[in-house]
Amino acid sequence: MTSLLWLRRDLRRSDLPALRSAADATGDDVGVVFVVDPALWKSAGTVRRAWLATSVEAAVDSYDGHLAVLYGDSRQVIPQTARRLGATSVHVSRETTPFGARRDREVAKALQDNGIDWVETGTPYAIGPGVLTTGAGTGFKVFTAFRRAWNEHGAPGPAGEVDVSWRAVDSDEAALTALQSARAADGLPDLPDAGEGAALRRWRDFLDESIGDYDTARDRPDLAGTSGLSPYLKVGAIHPRTLLADLASVSGPGRDSFVSELAWREFYADVLWRHPRSAWHDLTTTLGHMSYDEPGLELTAWQQGRTGYPLVDAGMRQLVATGWMHNRVRMVAASFLTKDLHLWWPLGARFFLDRLIDGDVASNNHGWQWVAGTGTDASPYFRVFNPVTQGKKFDPDGDYVRRWVPELRHLSGGAAHEPWRQTDGYREGYPERIVDHAVEREVSLSRLRGGSAPP
Ligand code: FAD
Repeated sequence: MTSLLWLRRDLRRSDLPALRSAADATGDDVGVVFVVDPALWKSAGTVRRAWLATSVEAAVDSYDGHLAVLYGDSRQVIPQTARRLGATSVHVSRETTPFGARRDREVAKALQDNGIDWVETGTPYAIGPGVLTTGAGTGFKVFTAFRRAWNEHGAPGPAGEVDVSWRAVDSDEAALTALQSARAADGLPDLPDAGEGAALRRWRDFLDESIGDYDTARDRPDLAGTSGLSPYLKVGAIHPRTLLADLASVSGPGRDSFVSELAWREFYADVLWRHPRSAWHDLTTTLGHMSYDEPGLELTAWQQGRTGYPLVDAGMRQLVATGWMHNRVRMVAASFLTKDLHLWWPLGARFFLDRLIDGDVASNNHGWQWVAGTGTDASPYFRVFNPVTQGKKFDPDGDYVRRWVPELRHLSGGAAHEPWRQTDGYREGYPERIVDHAVEREVSLSRLRGGSAPP
């Protein structure tokens, strides 16, 4: 008998409960596939597509070539493949995004109509979305309460190694061509090494060298103080369960702070699962009265890292050059778009999602809503990040800004955060500020109060 394992956001072979479930289901052959589905493939930006392509290719190596890559609409490809192989069951990690959950319902139905079982085991999270509820049986609205419940619940241990006898499945030419052309697209940044081996190496380096200082270094974009694991977590090259198991023997504020960040990822996934519409619409109605500006040249300046605010510009240039941006700078850049340029958050979220190699609709779009004041944050809209004081505080020597904004390399130390204070020749081609932060902050607050903007 044959079972079919369909990989999606779980591009790894170790610590994969769905693989164990597929092997246990038949005690016999397991076919394993990834589907390049145009519905998802075409809507991902070039950078995210390239990262996914390299990650799929790395997974093919992990599976010693037994992973086949197929092309087409998953709703047809999976039932057809399962029938062709004579599979009695199809195994997946449960998908909880709005698109993935909808697609899976259709695939499961098509399979069941053909007498083939659909088996969901595990999710991309330590504790799957929807599992944790408040005493009243509802979802959590604020992070601190979610995190407490998440800690108390605890995560299951890693799934052990599985002995598998593989069932050969041939890859489609169209799928291999799609992977190749995604990797060869023009203007791609240098991508990190892909695959579960690379993810584990990065994790172990971080554990050995950086976890102890994580709580203080994580906010500093000028330091390599964070794990850099988000692109791997995104494609499932590593699972948070693996990380939490390793952290069981670690203690200290660095460890606690890191676990808390993993919990944020799970919180946002839970919120999205419960409120699928919040992917692209305000989660709360608190700011229903807000008026936003139409996008124009200021949006282009933000996208190109030419706002005249060094920290914002450094972040946007880091994003375009590498497909990644430091968390602190993501917050400052998002605040600038929503509160200095008065643009609705989905405009920025879409731009990020297309360019981030860790681009994830739950973390990205709820990260944006947190900053915009429309999401889960208990903090009010009137928290407006000041890009200059944020720069001086978190990039005190200006190293981060100078790395990404070459026009400011001649300015030493924190002076790089305020080039306009230089008396002559400071700009070296660097743009003037497109808006005055102090003025725009007031405009935002005034709109919040429902009043008109000051002159
Ligand atoms: P570390 O500091 O090493 O953290 C470890 C892991 O915890 C991360 O890999 C990530 O999985 C998780 N994590 C950390 N911070 C957060 C957070 N604030 N929210 C949710 N999860 C978190 N993260 C994404 O993975 N994909 C996105 O598309 C994304 N978009 C964002 C957009 C905005 C506007 C903001 C403010 C944040 C966004 N984040 C996103 C969260 C965070 O910026 C990244 O997870 C983090 O910068 C990744 O770097 P790291 O792996 O070195 O993180």
